[in-house]
Amino acid sequence: MARYTGSSCRICRRQSAKLFLKGQRCYTEKCGFDKRSYAPGQHGKGQRIKLSNYGMQLREKQKVKKIYGILERQFRKYFQTASRSKGITGSKLLELLERRLDNVIFRSSFVSSRPEARQMVMHGHVLVNDKKVDIPSYSVKTGDIVVIKPKEKTIKRVKESAEKLKDRPCPSWIEVDKVGLRTKITRLPERNDMAADIKEQLIVELYSK
Ligand code: SF4
Repeated sequence: MARYTGSSCRICRRQSAKLFLKGQRCYTEKCGFDKRSYAPGQHGKGQRIKLSNYGMQLREKQKVKKIYGILERQFRKYFQTASRSKGITGSKLLELLERRLDNVIFRSSFVSSRPEARQMVMHGHVLVNDKKVDIPSYSVKTGDIVVIKPKEKTIKRVKESAEKLKDRPCPSWIEVDKVGLRTKITRLPERNDMAADIKEQLIVELYSK
């Protein structure tokens, strides 16, 4: 599958927001956005562009795609599913994204970034209800139990990472056992469990044109 291989910090600078794409580094003084919070490129510094309505909608969509690490086609599918579901389309879209298995691993603070979580799932280190699942987009349900495969090397690595992230709070829709590296989905995520600075309405407006 095609994926973006360029600089992650460049994306944050373009979006004028910290998107936390690089794990631990994002929380240190090495953060690229903290050092240079202006747009990337030769003319980035001092660049003041007033975005049109369409520009803002597009920018918001790009931001959410980058946060969850997904490409246009898959993102559009999520939108179509959300718009066919009952409830508010924007909130439903974010709910579907939050329910991704790689996001659950990240939210459980077993790893420091979503790309790392994605790799862990793809390499077969994650079990859902005792079965190996290697699809990062797998959508979890209420009652699902997500566990890190009991393989010595993996457990050691994840435990080290979880120890570093022990102060990071986990959302209330999951119940995390950081010792047993086990997460239970207690309910489906709701809008107020997710980042408040996402303006999902702009994405809905963009796709509804
Ligand atoms: Fe973004 Fe800072 Fe993380 Fe780079 S280090 S990805 S700029 S949050």
